[in-house]
Amino acid sequence: MQRTPAAEQAAKTPPSCLADFNCAALPLEDDGLDLAVDFALTCKACGADTFEILAFPKVAPDPSPYFAIEPGQTLFQPPHRLKCTSCGDERALFDVRTQGYDGVLNGGGAYESGTTGEAPIPGVFNVVVTACYNIELNELIELAHDAKVNASDLFDWLTIVGTSTGGEQIELSYECA
Ligand SMILES: [Zn+2]
Repeated sequence: MQRTPAAEQAAKTPPSCLADFNCAALPLEDDGLDLAVDFALTCKACGADTFEILAFPKVAPDPSPYFAIEPGQTLFQPPHRLKCTSCGDERALFDVRTQGYDGVLNGGGAYESGTTGEAPIPGVFNVVVTACYNIELNELIELAHDAKVNASDLFDWLTIVGTSTGGEQIELSYECA
C-alpha cells in the first residue's frame, strides 16, 4: 500500500510544528490510512523518546458542551507542548489557533484553547503525531505557496497519541479543516 501524494510529500517534509523535535515518519502499515503520516518524536536536545504532554486542563461543566467528555471529566485543551523527561527541554508542539489548514488559512480551528493553568497530562509518554491530508497535492501546493508555508503545514487533521510506559494511551485529536 502506498501513501497518497500529499501524505508522501509530508513524510519527506514534515509539518513545521514538528521542527523542534526529531521526527521519524513511520512506515505505512498494511491496514494504515494512506492519506496520513505517523511521526514518532524524540527530543532534539538529548535524543530521549519520553515526554510529558503539556495542556490546559479544564473540568467539563454539567451539561458538558464537549464531545465525548462527561461532566466532571477533564478536557486537556490545546495548545500543547512537550517536556522531555530526560533533559527537561520544553518545546511547542501544536496550537490549533495558528497551525493546520484552518489555523493557517482561516484564523483558527473550532476548539477552545487554554491561556492559563498549563499542566502536564498525568503520565510519561512516547509520542506519535499523525497528520492527515484529505486534499489533492496540487491544490495543497498552491494553497501553501500563497500562504508561504510548507504544503505539509496544511494538514486537515492532527492527532497526538501518547503511549505511557504502562501501555496506557492518550489521544488528542484535532480536526483542522
Ligand atoms: Zn531531552
